[in-house]
Amino acid sequence: MSAQNPVFIPGPTNIPDEIRKACDMATLDHRSPAFGKILHPARAGVQQVLKSTTAEVFIFPSSGTGGWETALTNTLSPGDHVLVARNGMFSHRWIDMCQRHDLNVEIVETAWGEGISADRYGEILAADTDHRIKAVLATHNETATGVLSDIGAIRKAMNRSNHPALLFVDGVSSIGSIDFRFDEWGVDVAVTGSQKGFMLSAGLGIVGFSARAMAATSTATLLRTYFDVRDMEKGYANNAYPYTPPVGLLNGLKLSCEMLLEEGLENVFARHHRIAEGVRQAIAAWGMELCAVSPDLCSNTVSAIKTPDGFDATEIVNHAASKYGVAFGVGLGEVAGKVFRIGHLGKMTDVMALSGIATAEMVMADLGLDVRLGSGVAAAQEYYRSSAEQMQKFAA
Ligand SMILES: *Cc1c(COP(=O)(O)O)cnc(C)c1O
Repeated sequence: MSAQNPVFIPGPTNIPDEIRKACDMATLDHRSPAFGKILHPARAGVQQVLKSTTAEVFIFPSSGTGGWETALTNTLSPGDHVLVARNGMFSHRWIDMCQRHDLNVEIVETAWGEGISADRYGEILAADTDHRIKAVLATHNETATGVLSDIGAIRKAMNRSNHPALLFVDGVSSIGSIDFRFDEWGVDVAVTGSQKGFMLSAGLGIVGFSARAMAATSTATLLRTYFDVRDMEKGYANNAYPYTPPVGLLNGLKLSCEMLLEEGLENVFARHHRIAEGVRQAIAAWGMELCAVSPDLCSNTVSAIKTPDGFDATEIVNHAASKYGVAFGVGLGEVAGKVFRIGHLGKMTDVMALSGIATAEMVMADLGLDVRLGSGVAAAQEYYRSSAEQMQKFAA
């Protein structure tokens, strides 16, 4: 792997130099007002990125997975029912965590490559007339398959059946890169991490809690200590943590939010869409298909590309790393060996994406796949040329 090349994995993502520098700090007293000047702006920044004016933001020394655990253990009790679709590796792992916490998991099995069916959720909730289901879980962007689900539609389905369940959304690979509307969608807990859209290294589990989710903390009996948001809330009131916080990472998060908000969230989302669309044009030019089964499901942060039957897609990732020093993502779980992934989120530009597309072409040609050098690059170039002006308008 060359430190000069960008990575094309869907997290951890490339880190802007300014953010790396912001993380590199001399020690400061994490119980002093100076720490509050980092903590509170970071929390306020995350709240804005979530498009919320009300979410209580908690930031744990953890990763996204700790955010899942925070959502579950603070709001639920053993035996509670939760409703969740399994359509990829990340929803699968969240289900596994629910089961290990003795929750009663109603799983909607969904083909890998498909999105969450809001209609199916709606039917199940409508049939749950005694409201046994306490929480509805949804992975907004399935990073394993490159599939984006419609959270607004899930909220509408919940409202149609007048169901009081809480809505928990895994936005680890969408928040800060793809439109996410905490308030408008009535999200109760949003989960993310530092190493994807926020362009930091791994180390922070970031959650937003609604007032309803906060209220649920007083009745929830699942065991929690490290991830107890009530301890965190008390700490925050005194510019502190219940333990020692990673001050440098929090300072990086503060800057990351400033950068995203200065670019403008809508511009950030448009940039991700445009970069992703160029990658999709390249994939089509190669004559290859996405794991996502229809265009409306295509993720703007990661593309999972199906390789021909009998070919081990992992070879692409290994060869790219060993020969060209470039990182792509392997297929996970059910699609291991069947897809490789190009991550195109965070600190990413059209020009960077072109280098990833060009590298993928060299790798596939080396490995004997029927891909003409330059075909995907040309398709992406044409798209980027024709959409550049539209981008400048956004930036202006
Ligand atoms: C990366 C990712 C996670 C896991 O986050 P960690 O930070 O690795 O714990 C969870 N969900 C999704 C959708 C992800 O992309």
